[in-house]
Amino acid sequence: MYRGSQGIILKKQDFRESDSFFSIYTYDFGKIEAIARGVKKSKSKLSGHLDYFSIIDLMAVRGKIFNHISGAVSIKNFLNIKKNLQKINLIFYCLEITDYFIKTGEKNKKIFLLLSQFLMIADKNLRIERLKFIAHCYILKLLNLLGYKPELYFCLKCGQKITPNGNFFSVLAGGIFCAKCKKNRENNIFEISNNAIKLLRVILQKNLSNLVKVKLSKNLFTETIKIIDEFLNFRLDKDMKSRKFIKF
Ligand SMILES: [Zn+2]
Repeated sequence: MYRGSQGIILKKQDFRESDSFFSIYTYDFGKIEAIARGVKKSKSKLSGHLDYFSIIDLMAVRGKIFNHISGAVSIKNFLNIKKNLQKINLIFYCLEITDYFIKTGEKNKKIFLLLSQFLMIADKNLRIERLKFIAHCYILKLLNLLGYKPELYFCLKCGQKITPNGNFFSVLAGGIFCAKCKKNRENNIFEISNNAIKLLRVILQKNLSNLVKVKLSKNLFTETIKIIDEFLNFRLDKDMKSRKFIKF
């Protein structure tokens, strides 16, 4: 039996006539999947609380086949997100990625804190371009916490410390090759500017809230988003359904 925990909904699907299926990232138990019975009926006490873009106090019980949500109270609603369709789509994309990479029961409190911080920032009055940058910072930090850490300090081939200029990012190897070690035949390799290397390091070092005000030229924005996108896409083996609703 699960006890209570705070949770954030990653996915919600129709299930049977009046039930819904949820994938939820919880603070204490990591990702759990559970059914909420009768939640689509108008009398349901749970329905108003089991919503996206919220932090929910949750009770769930382990069943023979499915886990069941026995109680839910939303304790923090990020209502501003719901007012902007571009924000909604961007966050759905990040939630889908999170759900894709995390297996049930995988626990990491840092992931819960990262996700709640991301929702908190998305709820603020940020321009959509800046939120796209923050969403990519979220994705890179999430991948890092899940063990997909890009090597940004030493050349992946010769092991020498990376010096400015002439470096390449390898999507396949997940990090940097120095100018001397570039592999010509590899497809997923491209030049990376020194500023982008520095920015990727900063993204992994700082909290999301510290990245909201980072200075960013248009070129650096485009380059960094492309690197994170390629780094992510190479590690996905299917298209994210929500990807088609957003442009980078
Ligand atoms: Zn090298």
